Amino acid sequence: FDLRNEDLKDMQELGQGNGGSVKKVEHAPTGTIMAKKIVLIDAKPSVRKQILRELQIMHDCNSVHIISFYGAFISDPNICICMEYMDKGSLDGIYKKIGPIDIDVIGKVALAVLEGLTYLYDVHRIIHRDIKPSNILFNSQGQIKICDFGVSGELINSIADTFVGTSTYMSPERIQGAQYTVKSDVWSLGISLIELALGRFPFADSSSDDSDLSDFEGTLSPSRPAPAPLPARTKEQKDKKKKRKSKGVSLQGGGMTMSILELLQHIVNEPAPRLAPEGRFPKEAEEFVDSCLLKDPEQRKTPKDLLKSSWVEHSRTSTIDLEAWASTF
Ligand code: ATP
Ligand code: MG
Repeated sequence: FDLRNEDLKDMQELGQGNGGSVKKVEHAPTGTIMAKKIVLIDAKPSVRKQILRELQIMHDCNSVHIISFYGAFISDPNICICMEYMDKGSLDGIYKKIGPIDIDVIGKVALAVLEGLTYLYDVHRIIHRDIKPSNILFNSQGQIKICDFGVSGELINSIADTFVGTSTYMSPERIQGAQYTVKSDVWSLGISLIELALGRFPFADSSSDDSDLSDFEGTLSPSRPAPAPLPARTKEQKDKKKKRKSKGVSLQGGGMTMSILELLQHIVNEPAPRLAPEGRFPKEAEEFVDSCLLKDPEQRKTPKDLLKSSWVEHSRTSTIDLEAWASTF
């Protein structure tokens, strides 16, 4: 593809993140439907060109568990990244729509993500750096693919300058300033899997049925006292909260009990979350998640090693029909 912005016709807004926004577009000359990610980059032209060069590696990332790449271009002041459109969206959107996800489906998610991570690292020496439900995409053919991995060092630097991340999938060692390794991605996978199984972000207050990162955003004041636990919200309050929910807005009056700083301290100092309550999920799944969430990165396995764990092996041979599952929502 020789991509030019004027050939891309906007169809639908798919979502917004910290780095930018994503739109469903049609490439008019070929009729190809794509997802166009628009990233605002506050950097010199030379840096933008460098980012564009680095992004070209994505052309060589060919795996069924990695989102395909059509191309990237500069459209001042943005960089546009065009990728495969996944018609069922990301897993956070799916569980927010249908509730907690079946553990057998989650087994397939774990398998897909581990294979994607292993491919990226073994073939390209790429560490993902941003595994979370919004970066795991699903389509009506039942395919599971990961997106938004850290191919471009310059892009990572440029974005890091412009936002304070909701880095809550971050491993304890990363919070403490250690280097990123493939094992940090494994931690993020463990947190993401619990989130899918419970239908809520695992660190958030348990009375909150729709807790997600927006509960934490805008709360970076270290001096902010932890609010006392609030009584469960009424249905009207919840509906109101849903309406207001948009990224980057700090919500008041929810069941929130932690600021970002408290959350980061919690991740470092407290025992890791688990698939709970005990007995609700298969033992093998519990053990797998526990092994992803070993706080000491020395003890935590790599994605490649985790592919050999019993739960993942069983997920591989499971006959669950993801295409049929996809047709239910
Ligand atoms: P963050 O910016 O914190 O990483 P995010 O992943 O939600 O958060 P974006 O990467 O900008 O932010 O994506 C916004 C939304 O767009 C995602 O939540 C996802 O639902 C949707 N999306 C992204 N890429 C695709 C794609 N290739 N196909 C379909 N939907 C997509
Ligand atoms: Mg994303």
